[in-house]
Amino acid sequence: MHENLARLDFIKNKIKEIVDKKQLKTAPEIIAISKTFPLEKIIPLLDRGHIHFGENKIQEAELKWNGVANKYKEIKLHMVGKLQSNKAKKAVEVFDYIHSLDNEKLAVKLQESEKKVNKKIKYFIQVNVANEKQKSGILLSDLESFYSFCTKNLSLDIVGLMCFPPFNSNPEKYFEIIKISASKLNLKHISMGMSNDYEIALFGGSTFLRLGSAIFGSRKLPN
Ligand SMILES: *Cc1c(COP(=O)(O)O)cnc(C)c1O
Repeated sequence: MHENLARLDFIKNKIKEIVDKKQLKTAPEIIAISKTFPLEKIIPLLDRGHIHFGENKIQEAELKWNGVANKYKEIKLHMVGKLQSNKAKKAVEVFDYIHSLDNEKLAVKLQESEKKVNKKIKYFIQVNVANEKQKSGILLSDLESFYSFCTKNLSLDIVGLMCFPPFNSNPEKYFEIIKISASKLNLKHISMGMSNDYEIALFGGSTFLRLGSAIFGSRKLPN
């Protein structure tokens, strides 16, 4: 078996164990974050029928995935990286989900792009859960009004919240805050948990784990 498949199976088994043991209601989807890895490393997962894949750069995603969707019709592509509003149209063309919706200008551009491209996609609002200066994301205090702007003014299909907990701190309480915030807004999905904290995110109610190195091995480039 290909090593990436073996790692994916290992993770799935672990998730199943936790879900059974803790009697969680639902198991999260796994988004295989394939940034920096060439298609040949991804093919084994595609051939196995894995559905969700994620990238963090528009151009890389476009080059890599162009044509793949014709062969693997079920796949869903997720944009998890910072998105500049001048690339909104491209993003709508390439992706099925965007996890990094984090400002009004971008939201407006995405709505315009959906109209131009005649395609609706799904969004996660990225939340700056610990109020970190250097990080993008909507502050908790602005979340309700931003959500309302996106849904009422723009009719964007917001399906959930996304976060990165602060580096080097216990993520548990941040995951909890996101879960509570999502439930207040009646949002079904939570995009949280990466290779180093996905088990904690699972307990915290994640519905989409974003896993890169745990599946594909370590990345050479620091992104
Ligand atoms: C790279 C990346 C991931 C995956 O990171 P790993 O630690 O390799 O699992 C998840 N989410 C985002 C937004 C990323 O950029």
